Amino acid sequence: MLEYFPEPEEREPLTECLECGESLYKGDVAADVPDGYICRGCWQKVALENAKRDEMKEFIQEYDDKKEFGKWYFEPQIVVLEDVSNDNHE
Ligand SMILES: [Zn+2]
Repeated sequence: MLEYFPEPEEREPLTECLECGESLYKGDVAADVPDGYICRGCWQKVALENAKRDEMKEFIQEYDDKKEFGKWYFEPQIVVLEDVSNDNHE
């Protein structure tokens, strides 16, 4: 007999990723950029697209692991999403 379990918690998305449109929930990690938020699944791609040559160079000198570039690039902007209602994004 199959048993159905309810979703762990009905969660309202707080916002969505600018890049892929995926819903972002409280507690999710995302990069807080001027236009909104970028999810962790996208920040690598976005970072690679937006990075300037010297930023890439700086990273490569410091780290070997290219997969971490997005995280490094967005580091100062990475936030754990809380209630964004009082956020001042325009
Ligand atoms: Zn995304």
